Amino acid sequence: MWARQLSGRQTRSSSFDFNSILTPVPYGVWDYIAMPFILPPLSRRQFLATSAGLAASLAACAQARAADKPGYVALLADTHIAADKAAVSRDVNMTKHLTAVVEQIVKASEPPDFAILHGDAAFLKGEAGDYKTLGELLAPLGHSGLATYMLLGNHDDRDQFRAGLKQYSGGSALEAKHSLYLKEFPHAHWYTLDSLDKVNVTPGKLGEEQLAWLAKQLDERTDKPAIVSVHHHPQFTGDKIGGITDTKALFDVLVPRKHVKAVLFGHTHAWSIVQHEGIHLINLPPVGYPFDKAKPSGWVEARVSPDKMQLTLRALNGHKQGGEQHELAFRT
Ligand SMILES: [Zn+2]
Repeated sequence: MWARQLSGRQTRSSSFDFNSILTPVPYGVWDYIAMPFILPPLSRRQFLATSAGLAASLAACAQARAADKPGYVALLADTHIAADKAAVSRDVNMTKHLTAVVEQIVKASEPPDFAILHGDAAFLKGEAGDYKTLGELLAPLGHSGLATYMLLGNHDDRDQFRAGLKQYSGGSALEAKHSLYLKEFPHAHWYTLDSLDKVNVTPGKLGEEQLAWLAKQLDERTDKPAIVSVHHHPQFTGDKIGGITDTKALFDVLVPRKHVKAVLFGHTHAWSIVQHEGIHLINLPPVGYPFDKAKPSGWVEARVSPDKMQLTLRALNGHKQGGEQHELAFRT
């Protein structure tokens, strides 16, 4: 894994300063620049023949470009929304944070293909009122035509979630768990797992049935990279397990299947990226509150190509890490 950090955000200027050809430009700008070209004078016949050819080649280019365009997903985790919109935890009003994130996603110039909320959607015990407020706060995403997929964390309640947020809760293949294969999107197959074991008890568990489901799903789709989202963090060592208690069984499924490239999760409220056996482990920042106040809260833009994933941190409250980018090459 290598990471590239920037002091500022990726710029996407509509007017291009040609002087900047001679100076380093922020990473990512080149994607948006059309280089100028000059055509010599032509006879009308030549012009018609050339322009028809040019139109055809431009159309072919546009098609190839659409196929090359990375799939774009908005990644959220740990919103911790309480029924009471004024609720504050660790000096953070969670409603204010989620409202700010939803607004950023809706107003972005490039809409994501979909959004994923990686669990701990509700405040503490997954109460009905929490999901009612959460539904209200997420509504602008739906109104803008964006599908949002939701995972469950240890502060969620599966039954209350299914009762209160029907529009987000359908489609699971398993009765006892809320695991999904997300609709196919360019360049990857995306799976969400349900690590909720007991409500308001810290560790998470996937269970044999869900892992067997995952293995079967992964074996059925090997043509593109596979990405897995789950609430709890993988925990390979330590006596006191606060993460996934069956981490070893999960990675016994993931590691030998080389098309699995990344696992995304929340739970620790601490933004970080590491690797295990070449699989990227991406710990998303909380939308709500970081446990360590020095760490960022916010959300992450993920752009997925056939061979890599590019992440951009969108931090709240002007945190200094806002705009930070990471380009993660996929294992082969
Ligand atoms: Zn949490």
